[in-house]
Amino acid sequence: MSTITVEQTAALANNWLPSSAGIVELFALSAGYLTLPEKYFVHPASENSRRTVPSLAFLIQHRHPATGKLTRIVFDLGLRRDVKRYSEPIQRHVSTRQPLTTDPDVVKSLAAGGLRPDDIDYVIYSHMHWDHIGEPRDFQKSTFVIGHGSWDLFKPTETSSLRGSHSFFEPGILPDDRTIELNDAETVSKNEKKPSIIPGDANFGQPWTTHSEMDIHVLDIFNDGTVNIVHAPGHLPGHINLLVKTSSGQRIYLAGDACHDRRIVRKELEIGEWLDTAGHICCIHADRKKAEETIERIRQLEHKGVEVIFAHDVEWVENAKNQSRFWGV
Ligand SMILES: [Zn+2]
Repeated sequence: MSTITVEQTAALANNWLPSSAGIVELFALSAGYLTLPEKYFVHPASENSRRTVPSLAFLIQHRHPATGKLTRIVFDLGLRRDVKRYSEPIQRHVSTRQPLTTDPDVVKSLAAGGLRPDDIDYVIYSHMHWDHIGEPRDFQKSTFVIGHGSWDLFKPTETSSLRGSHSFFEPGILPDDRTIELNDAETVSKNEKKPSIIPGDANFGQPWTTHSEMDIHVLDIFNDGTVNIVHAPGHLPGHINLLVKTSSGQRIYLAGDACHDRRIVRKELEIGEWLDTAGHICCIHADRKKAEETIERIRQLEHKGVEVIFAHDVEWVENAKNQSRFWGV
């Protein structure tokens, strides 16, 4: 007689999960802390106020119910353990984000639960900023997945239009032969048929679709509704989020840098702006209007009961009930 796990029982009890859906678990990974000068992120903010925030990464484990195939995904790698290995312009920027700590980094956090980088099948990046890119060379066997437009950021002509000292990118940091750049979500088509795939295999080449319940464009990577990449434009070209349905019945939205401060989501504060030395208006988001639209969609997700976690979500980390949701705890 076949046995059924607690997770499978929970999955069957949730009518939004088809019985063929993968068994999915999600854990937070501590991947460093940095300090943000508030005036660059929120408005109004006093000149010298600063907030030390985490740069979170996440582990998602997906097991196909019939074949047992296990896929491990890490979403973002956080801060680089050795900040001296960042390029010179990024190191100068790092000096403005102190205090900063990289212990534990994502590798140490994975090890806390018995995993090594070689155990990770895919590293999906929310975007290419230094505080999320981590140390990709640690992940010698993983495939990297980046949003549409991310490759172009490594070309000097593209990055020069992005203002702010945080927007420096390191050419060659990702391996050409192990990196997948997603298709353009702006060309979403409701009617395109999803290509057939091997059950349990992740598929990043299929078309984007409109989510059946939410106003978001998604790429359902296992074709079972459990792990969706979400088009989340505004912060940086190629910025993507994840919507995960776990087998214990949670719907969790990993929002990357769609927003840096929950007070903006609650409409207590606005997105900050500042002037650079040449008098240009700068914003932490490359496209402020699209960023605001993405934040509004995130508000709607919260209203529908989806738990939202931002990469720099200090409020989420400081909530004692989330401590047990870190890998290895
Ligand atoms: Zn960030």
